[in-house]
Amino acid sequence: MIESFSTGQILWRIIGWFSVFLLVGLLFDSVLLCLVLGCGGLLLWQYTQHQKLSNWLWRDRRLTPPSGKGAWENTFNGLYRLQNKNRRKVRGLAGLLRRFRQGAEAMPDAAVVLDHEFKIIWCNRLASIHLGLRWPLDQNQRIDNLLRTPEFTKYLHRRDYSDPFEFKPIQVEEQVVEIRIIPYGDSQFLLIARDIRRMRQLENMRRDFVANVSHELKTPLTVLQGYLEMMEMTAESHQQKSLTLMQQQVVRMSGLVEQLLELSRIESAQEIDMSHPVPIDAMLADLNQEALGLSRERHKLTFEIDTSLQCYGNEQQLRAAFSNLVSNAIRYSPDGGEIVVSWQAHPAGVEFAVKDQGIGVEPAHIHRLTERFYRVDRARSRDTGGSGLGLAIVKHALSQHQSELRVQSQAGQGSRFSFVIPSKYLVSPVI
Ligand code: ADP
Repeated sequence: MIESFSTGQILWRIIGWFSVFLLVGLLFDSVLLCLVLGCGGLLLWQYTQHQKLSNWLWRDRRLTPPSGKGAWENTFNGLYRLQNKNRRKVRGLAGLLRRFRQGAEAMPDAAVVLDHEFKIIWCNRLASIHLGLRWPLDQNQRIDNLLRTPEFTKYLHRRDYSDPFEFKPIQVEEQVVEIRIIPYGDSQFLLIARDIRRMRQLENMRRDFVANVSHELKTPLTVLQGYLEMMEMTAESHQQKSLTLMQQQVVRMSGLVEQLLELSRIESAQEIDMSHPVPIDAMLADLNQEALGLSRERHKLTFEIDTSLQCYGNEQQLRAAFSNLVSNAIRYSPDGGEIVVSWQAHPAGVEFAVKDQGIGVEPAHIHRLTERFYRVDRARSRDTGGSGLGLAIVKHALSQHQSELRVQSQAGQGSRFSFVIPSKYLVSPVI
């Protein structure tokens, strides 16, 4: 290791250098001339060393510095060491970057890194397959200039990425890509895109399968029901009980099949036509009659309807949502319970709510109620003629109307099931 020269050492060297010239000057009686020559020599030597350094830094391709003399040797070696240190750091960083890229390339999804202006900083290979991006050609291009759909531009600038965006790229036929945007760091975004074609196909297959099976079951069930009714008329008294039981089960199964078909219909419905006003007052009047029939005077039913509030939507789907919520309130309320059905103005539109004083739901179950066949108490649901599909139907019908089911409930105290139809679907009142 080469030690750097101290100021004292440098001073002694200079004194030594000039002493030689002083002695020679004294010897030849020309001190001034010799000292000037000493200064010139020192300057020349320093300049030569400086030139060597400059050459090495800017022109020379060699990694090792030139050999310097005296204090310059330290400087050269110091610079060389610094250079080596930096080179090692750069190599380390490049390795890290390479490993990060290899990891991102191995991802099963397309990944695009965007800056705060949505310009592409980097993307992986799958981004070219799923989104048609060309790397590195598209670097620094705005992503909304490359994925040119007004919906995507709207989604991008909405800055609320809690829901994914579905995109159909034109370059791959029938491909459906789900895009998710994850903000991170200092106003940067990670865009993840995956092909959900297979998932969609499976979903459609499942939906078609359920719809077909339900449809196929309808005819045999109708035949069975017919024969059971006929047999009941001629049956001996000891056969009556089993026939009634069989009939009850066939009715239950028919109900289940009907609900499955209804769910399939709503699920497979394309975007619904929202240009037709729904006859809400007539529908709620029917519902009132249905509820009275179902309750058979066991409950106190109150309908608080503001008939001036009309909305656009799908009549069949809204009827299914209303009717399932009201029938649940009746089925899960003990005799004497009060049930209030309301259709009233809400800051965000119009709210339909059903409030009961029934058995209520424990908080742990609330978020699962809209799953197909989810029932808090299977036995009770079966006894009350439930299939576990009612709230799944409500959820799907509401999502078609850009609405969501809200559940407030306390076990043993009662529940309030409600939803709001957004104000954009309200029919403006005629003045
Ligand atoms: P089901 O046909 O079993 O009623 P739903 O999908 O309509 O199926 O409801 C799912 C579950 O939610 C029910 O099994 C029941 O446990 C619970 N539930 C629904 N409505 C109410 C209510 N008003 N009060 C208490 N529990 C309810």
